[in-house]
Order: sequence, then structure tokens, then C-alpha cells
Amino acid sequence: MSRVLLHRAHAGRNAVTEDRGTWSLWRDRVYVCCPDCGTTLRIDHEITETGDVNPSVGCPTEVCSWHVYVTLAGWSGGHRNL
Ligand SMILES: [Zn+2]
Repeated sequence: MSRVLLHRAHAGRNAVTEDRGTWSLWRDRVYVCCPDCGTTLRIDHEITETGDVNPSVGCPTEVCSWHVYVTLAGWSGGHRNL
């Protein structure tokens, strides 16, 4: 399974991301917007200091097969277990 780099949603939106293929931090929770179908999901995974998310992330929508390892580009939150 490949590891996909996700860019942070535009700063200033400061909310749960609705932009496909991006991540956001909102109220100390990390959200990712599926690049394939646009569904937003909350991450309850481990995040390393470099932004690697483990285990892999899968879209919860039944009709969508997006399932990859992701890296949060620009992550500066340190090592976290969400
Ligand atoms: Zn999806």
C-alpha cells in the first residue's frame, strides 16, 4: 500500500476540512478529506513527528475504496496518539 502526502487545508478556514485530499486540525482533532469522494473523516491514529499516520486510513463510505497510508504535510504537532 502506498503512502500518500496530504497537504494542509488553507489556513484561515480553521475548520474541519472539506477540501479533497487535505487535512486540517480542529479543536485538537485531525481531519482528512477523502480525495476520491470528498467524505471527511476524523483520524484516531498514531501520528509520528514527521506526520506519518499509522495504521492506514480508509474511507468510511461504502462505495469508496480509498485506503492508503498517509503523511500529513506540514505537521508540527509532534508525536501523537489520537
Ligand atoms: Zn472516499
